Amino acid sequence: MEYKVLIGLEMHCEISKTNTKVFSSAKNGYNNAPNTNIRPVDMAFPGTLPVLNKEAVKKALMASMMLSCTQPEYLCFERKNYYYPDLPKGYQITQETKPAPIGMYGKLVYECKDELKTVRINNIHLEEDAASTDHYTSVSKIDYNRAGVPLLELVTEPDFRSAEEAVAFLETMRSNYQYADISEADSKKGQIRCDVNVSIMEASLDESNPENWGTKVEVKNVNSFGGVRDAINYEIKRQIELKENGTYDSMEQQTRRWDEESGTTIYMRDKVDAIDYKYFIDPNIPKLKLDPLWLEEIRKEIPVLAFERKQKYMQEYGLSNYDATNLVKEKEISEYYEECISYGVSPKSACNWITSIILGHINKYELKITDIFVTPKMLADLIQVLEKGDISSKQAKEVLYDSLKEDKEPLKIIEEKGIRQIGNDEEILKIVKEVFVENKEAKEQYKSGKTNIVDFLVGQVMKKTRGKANPAMAMQFIKEELER
Ligand code: ADP
Ligand code: MG
Repeated sequence: MEYKVLIGLEMHCEISKTNTKVFSSAKNGYNNAPNTNIRPVDMAFPGTLPVLNKEAVKKALMASMMLSCTQPEYLCFERKNYYYPDLPKGYQITQETKPAPIGMYGKLVYECKDELKTVRINNIHLEEDAASTDHYTSVSKIDYNRAGVPLLELVTEPDFRSAEEAVAFLETMRSNYQYADISEADSKKGQIRCDVNVSIMEASLDESNPENWGTKVEVKNVNSFGGVRDAINYEIKRQIELKENGTYDSMEQQTRRWDEESGTTIYMRDKVDAIDYKYFIDPNIPKLKLDPLWLEEIRKEIPVLAFERKQKYMQEYGLSNYDATNLVKEKEISEYYEECISYGVSPKSACNWITSIILGHINKYELKITDIFVTPKMLADLIQVLEKGDISSKQAKEVLYDSLKEDKEPLKIIEEKGIRQIGNDEEILKIVKEVFVENKEAKEQYKSGKTNIVDFLVGQVMKKTRGKANPAMAMQFIKEELER
C-alpha cells in the first residue's frame, strides 16, 4: 500500500541575544563556569519575584511577526507545574494557547530542493528554559546557568510530508533567527531542540480532513537536524511495519525519545499517562497590554531575511542559485557582500571574489568572515585597481591571498612590491616577438586552421612575464602577428 506521512514540529530555540534572562537580571550567557549566571529568583528562593525582560519580549514579538502570526492584545504568562531537579520552582513559566501566546496562526514559506513550500504555524510562545543536568556514574550535577534563559517554542501544523521538508524548514528558521539577531541558534550549544510528531495514513485518503490522520507518535528532544531527519525516517519505517502487521490503527498516541546511539526511537509513555500540568496564569507577572505603536516599531526593525536576499541576488544581480545560496548562508557574509557592492563594485565581480577566495579562505581555516583582516572596502579597492587594468587578475589574486595571510592592506602590498601589469606596448610586443621566434611553426599552424594556437601563444607570453602582461593586449599583438 502507498502511504502519506504527516509531520509536525515543535521547535525550541533559546533567545541567546539578550543580555539577561527572561525573568531575572542574571546574565544570559553560554560557557560560563557552572552556577555563576544566577540570581536568587532563578533558584526559586522564597520572596523573590520575576521581572519580565522587555528585550526578550521584543525579540519574541519579532519572531512572531516574521512568521506572519497575530500578536495578542495582552501578554500573559502561565505556570506549567511539574517537578524535576532542573526546575527549582516546581513549575516552568510559559504560555499555553489560553489566553494567547506571543504569536498565533501564521505561516512560513521555505525552500526545499529548489521548490517553495508553505507550512502553517499553529503558535509561537515565550517561556523560560530549565537548568541543565549532567549525569555521572554515581552523581548528577545541576547547572542553573541555563535556568531562566528565554526560550521560544514554535509549533507547526502537521504540514511536512518528508524528513527533507522538516529539515529544510528548521534550517530556514535557524537562519531567520540569526538574521534577526534573536539567537545564534547553534545546536552545538544546545540552543535548538525539537520534538518531532509523525504519523502515516493511506495515500488515497484526503489529508485535509483530520479524521483521516493516523495516530501520531511524538519523539521528544531531538537535538540536531541530522537527528530530526533520522528520527523521522526511522518512525516512518517503523509505523509502516505496524500498519502492515495490522497493529498501527489500534495504537495509542504515544511519546518516544530519540536514541542517537542506536539510531532508534524508544517508548516513553502513552497519552493516557500524560502528565497533568495544571496550567494557571502566573499571579506574579502582571498582564501587559502591548502598545500597537511599539509593535509597529518592531515590525519596521525586521531585517531583510535570507530568502528575500537570495531572490534579489538572483533576479537583480543575475547571480546563480548556487552563488546566491552561498552568499546568504550567513548574515555576516551577505552583509560583507552588500557592503562591497556599495563601494561601486559590480555585484558579479564582488560575488566571484568572495565566493572563490574569501569563502575558500574562511572555510579552510574555520574562520568567520568578521574575523578576517580584509574588509569589504579593501576588497572593493583591489577589485577596482584590477578593473582599471593596473594589475592582472593573477596578480590581484596573489595580492588578496597575501593580504589575508599577512594582515596587510591589498593596496599597500601593491605599492610596496611595485606590482603592476605590463601594459606597455613596446614591452609586450618585444615578448610577443620572442614567443614567435621560439614557436616558428605557429603561423603555419594558424593558417592551416588551428586557431586555438592563439590561446597557447598568449599563455606563453603570460608565462614569460610571470602573469604580469595584460592578456588582452598580448592577444591583440599575437593576432596581428599571425594575420601578417
Ligand atoms: P498534543 O495535544 O499532543 O500536544 P497538538 O495538537 O498540540 O498535540 O500537536 C502537537 C504537534 O503534533 C504539532 O506540531 C502538530 O502539528 C503535530 N500533530 C498533530 N497531529 C498529528 C498527526 N496526526 N501527525 C503528525 N503530527 C501531528
Ligand atoms: Mg501540544
